[in-house]
Amino acid sequence: MATLPSHDAASETLRKYQEERDKRLDPRIDRSYAETKGKYRSFVDVDPNAGERIERAAIATEVDVAIVGGGFGGILAAARLKEAGVTDVMIVEKASDFGGTWYWNRYPGVQCDIESYSYLPLLEETGYMPKEKFSFGDEILRYCQQLGTHFDLYDKAVFQTEVTGAEWDAAASRWIVSTDRGDRIAARYFLLGSGRANEPKLPAIPGIESFRGKSFHSSRWDYSITGGSIHDPLDKLHDKRVAVIGTGATGIQLIPRVARSARQLYVFQRTPSSVGERFNAPTDPGWYKTLGRGWQKQRRELWLQAVHGSVDDSEVRDGWTDFGRLMRETAPTTPETEAEIGARAMLIDVQVMNNRRARIDATIENKETAERLKPWYNLYCKRPTFNDEFLPVFNQANTKLVDISETPITRITEDAIIVDDQRYEVDLIIFASGFHVVGPVEQRIRFPIAGRDGKLLSEHWRDGMRTLHGLMAHGFPNWFYLGQGQNAVTANYTTTVDDQAIHLAYIIAAARQRGASIVEPTAEAEEAWQEVIRSSMLRPAEFYASCTPGYYNNEGMGGTALFEEGYGAGPAAFDALLSDWRRDGNLAGLDTH
Ligand code: NAP
Repeated sequence: MATLPSHDAASETLRKYQEERDKRLDPRIDRSYAETKGKYRSFVDVDPNAGERIERAAIATEVDVAIVGGGFGGILAAARLKEAGVTDVMIVEKASDFGGTWYWNRYPGVQCDIESYSYLPLLEETGYMPKEKFSFGDEILRYCQQLGTHFDLYDKAVFQTEVTGAEWDAAASRWIVSTDRGDRIAARYFLLGSGRANEPKLPAIPGIESFRGKSFHSSRWDYSITGGSIHDPLDKLHDKRVAVIGTGATGIQLIPRVARSARQLYVFQRTPSSVGERFNAPTDPGWYKTLGRGWQKQRRELWLQAVHGSVDDSEVRDGWTDFGRLMRETAPTTPETEAEIGARAMLIDVQVMNNRRARIDATIENKETAERLKPWYNLYCKRPTFNDEFLPVFNQANTKLVDISETPITRITEDAIIVDDQRYEVDLIIFASGFHVVGPVEQRIRFPIAGRDGKLLSEHWRDGMRTLHGLMAHGFPNWFYLGQGQNAVTANYTTTVDDQAIHLAYIIAAARQRGASIVEPTAEAEEAWQEVIRSSMLRPAEFYASCTPGYYNNEGMGGTALFEEGYGAGPAAFDALLSDWRRDGNLAGLDTH
């Protein structure tokens, strides 16, 4: 039986969490981000992997379905539509190939934190066997391209093309999609699959533009500057002094690789990440062969249930299942009230984080550095990370942790990063500072979406998302959103978008069968879904208010937190709800004509 901290010890820890949160909410700490406009756009508008520019004439065409984004959202939607018999599908993608986040994020050590058997979709359809439990980014990128070939998506796809606007033409019952190549695509259905972490953000540090050395955002990694590859040493850094700003899920993965190659590495850390064990292993081909029909759906469900503690996790164990396992192991034999479950969950949260802090003590030789690396907040206040290489680098002589939790970076000069009266001279600055995940929709979707009567999506979502099932919106006929929001939130993004892809393919095929040219949620159905979301919130606002600031809770500034608008009853209940809805077969809540 697992041991849990006493209530007194846990209360003491929670008190420390509040202290650490308050420290980071000090108004003297500027948590704002530079607008990625003007001079900053150069950080975002580069594509080190673009290859040659595709020269082509502007396209004027009609298609059944136009999709923005060739990442997993767009790929899965196109694949599921094809399975449902809707084959005239065109993907418009800014990058030079499929891959989405895995196209852009090619930093050294990039790896998926979700096990490949659950994360890589359509494994049964393609017959592909992931090399290991946790795939590296290059394998995932290749797999996205393989899906493009498998589902015949390349023929109609356009790459190096950015959508500049989408407008509903009521007279023609078509979406008119325009692009920066002068294209005019008229589409019966229009799907937004541009993802949520697609707009890199840069901290608003004074002087950021005056730096004369090299610098780039982690999602625009430039191997011509560093040498090496995702797997190979960064040989051009052997005589370089490098700064990494940011220690989120990205920083944790790339820092060990930079530390291995650079002459000197300064890691600027504002909030430590929790770093659990990786649990990686090569895939056993013998085991993989034994997997029968339908195995992947079962595996995804098993993993999700193990994360939530409703089943034994021994088959799928990884760092995500730590919490669920302790919930199971400590469950009493007699029924508990909601309050008792909540109190036990709190103790378990503290225990999981105690284990992560103990891992730091067991690894880091310098006691002061160990203290500075310790995360003091609830497990799900920030995205947990899993890595076995990160902590040991702080025992290396060439790697220095610069704790900027209380004294932020004062400014960047032409050759240095200044913190108070300390000057860190560097040749290269790597911004592992994240993406515009929250905030106004127009910050992430850089083009206007105008629905019926010219209504803008940014207006419709001014006070947060408004959808039916997280997928469609009133006033936006024949339009679908791919991604997390007002649906079940899981750490496995591809489960979410695959479920959405299956659902929207059903709706489009059903509308077609009925001879309907319009499908749109009624205002009443959308409002009813808002009520479902409000009454089933995944985590209440008070939880996020107690958290250390970050993008999960709007940098601690209030407003709707990232997962606050999720469907709180969980993924299994959401899946059942949508399956029942499809089984009913009457497209409830949708206006079709
Ligand atoms: P992130 O989680 O937003 O982390 C950004 C980092 O930059 C944080 O450590 C943040 O500190 C720091 N930062 C921001 N402004 C700063 C400033 N002015 N001074 C110093 N530090 C500053 O971004 P990310 O690490 O790129 O990860 C983004 C998301 O991508 C993740 O949450 C995850 O969902 C996804 N991801 C997934 C995988 C995967 O395995 N599937 C791998 C990598 C990333 P604070 O914490 O103090 O704000």
